[in-house]
Amino acid sequence: IKKDGGGTIVSLSQSDQYKLSRTIQIEKRLLEALNQNDLHVMYLPQKDVQTGKITTVEALVRWEDEVLGVISPEELIPIAEETGLINEIGTFMLEKCCEQASIWQSKGFPIKVSYNSSIREFRDKNMVKIIRKMLEKYNCSPETLQIEFTEKFALEAEAEKPIIQQMQKLQADGVSFVLDDFGTGYASLRYLQLLPISQLKVDKSFINSLMQQEKLQHLVLGLIQFGHSLSIRVVAEGVETIDQYQLLKHMGCDAIQGYYVSKPISANEVEALLSKDAKT
Ligand code: C2E
Ligand code: CA
Ligand code: CA
Ligand code: CA
Repeated sequence: IKKDGGGTIVSLSQSDQYKLSRTIQIEKRLLEALNQNDLHVMYLPQKDVQTGKITTVEALVRWEDEVLGVISPEELIPIAEETGLINEIGTFMLEKCCEQASIWQSKGFPIKVSYNSSIREFRDKNMVKIIRKMLEKYNCSPETLQIEFTEKFALEAEAEKPIIQQMQKLQADGVSFVLDDFGTGYASLRYLQLLPISQLKVDKSFINSLMQQEKLQHLVLGLIQFGHSLSIRVVAEGVETIDQYQLLKHMGCDAIQGYYVSKPISANEVEALLSKDAKT
């Protein structure tokens, strides 16, 4: 079979086959995991540069399957988006976000919880209702909920009026929106005008080699000033070193996220950090 250089073809189709069967396995196990409440949430703290305090935590989905092992969000989310199970994951995450936010509120921690959304969830005409209901269920104020969406989402959404309207309704309630992975897509200035955005998150690909590349420094400074000129707060993600932090602070960046602040941690660990903040 391997004659005439056909080996490449054979191995390609094998890897495709493997991918397909893994996708099917993940899809099947995911349904079970959702039913058994097997997913959980880790929180990535975000530090306000001015005050030095944790003001927001981003909720990130985690899944370790007993058969398939750890499935990273990078693998899980695209499959969930394709199969539609993203709506289920979304409801699960939303519930956790509201539940935690209300626990932290009741303990006197003034903290926002940030939720990663997929455009497919906003194509559901009931998204506003779903979110309002969940906020009510946990007696959680809309101001504590933040919703992140990517540039890719924004580009598609700018042509879909019902999505924009749902976002505007939620914004009117007090929910805020974050444009995630800023700078990675095809920048469209139009969606900045159309969509309610209170924060831009500069993608970590810009921050990685920030110290080594002067051009990147100009670029990031430009993004920060660009955001500010639109009255949009700017947060940098993937900040890992004190040098990066200090430079971003110097550039006027409003908030930072990344291993320099903390890795994703459990709700209890978040609380320990917040208690520490409260004492200083
Ligand atoms: P994202 O929203 O850009 O989230 C940031 C990712 O970068 C997270 O990976 C986080 O753990 C990682 N990270 C944070 N700080 C650092 C750092 O200093 N250095 C480096 N190298 N990485 C850092 P994670 O948790 O694997 O999530 C990957 C992506 O999966 C997320 O990217 C988000 O797009 C998606 N995702 C995660 N949870 C959910 C969810 O519940 N729903 C949806 N729709 N998407 C999710
Ligand atoms: Ca995010
Ligand atoms: Ca991001
Ligand atoms: Ca990302």
